[in-house]
Amino acid sequence: KRAVASTSGKGKKNKVASGTITGGGSFQSMGIHPSLLRSLVLRGYTTPTPIQRQAIPSILDSPPRDLVGMARTGSGKTLAYLIPLIQRLNGRHSHTVGVKSLILCPSRELALQILKVGKEIARGWKSDNEGGQSEAIRWALIVGGEGLDEQFALMATNPDVVIATPGRLLHLAVEMNLDLKAVQYVVFDEADRLFEMGFAAQLQELLDRLPTNRQTLLFSATLPKSLVDFARAGLQENPKLVRLDADS
Ligand code: ADP
Ligand code: MG
Repeated sequence: KRAVASTSGKGKKNKVASGTITGGGSFQSMGIHPSLLRSLVLRGYTTPTPIQRQAIPSILDSPPRDLVGMARTGSGKTLAYLIPLIQRLNGRHSHTVGVKSLILCPSRELALQILKVGKEIARGWKSDNEGGQSEAIRWALIVGGEGLDEQFALMATNPDVVIATPGRLLHLAVEMNLDLKAVQYVVFDEADRLFEMGFAAQLQELLDRLPTNRQTLLFSATLPKSLVDFARAGLQENPKLVRLDADS
């Protein structure tokens, strides 16, 4: 199936206007793999938004550095962390055991949305893998309101990426004795809402289960004090701060 070709033009609905372009920087200049680039363009993501332009090169820098990305709703934060995530996974499933990337978000609806975008832009890569030798990235959605047995089974399939709400993931981690020590890339999306909704204690418990040599990214529309304190505890000492004010 030529999934990539069939969806061209689909991105025309995308709402973000390019706005004023400051400081140059295109997706092409970010060292993104050609199949991922092609996948972005085919979906109408031709020009990075300001948060993407600043966050993606920084996230992909080595050695990996933590990042706090603050920008208003609708500014394109999802792709700001999904593009580097897919790039880091080389667009394919890894047979080494353990979850490699973890995205935490406050609601089931948001998790579903992230999954949809992630699968969509990662899809193009699979067809480029020589002779079908490598397998596409495996995604797992771990949110409340779904059957626990199905989620246990899902976690047993060795997913590369887990998109989760904190309560359900922690429940699974405890009940399954889920090993999260292979996680290298952690995203807190809508981090301000994660805190407003009282997930702080669960997030801390999850953090304690992650290895310390991970890359942690925190995305938010606002930066309340509780979040700053959490970032101080859960992120490296000097995370990169990308802060775009309302007019960006
Ligand atoms: P946020 O998480 O900051 O609220 P989203 O990641 O949900 O924003 O993106 C908002 C909208 O912008 C979505 O419809 C998305 O498809 C679109 N979008 C994101 N990045 C781009 C881009 N580079 N070019 C065009 N549209 C984009
Ligand atoms: Mg968002």
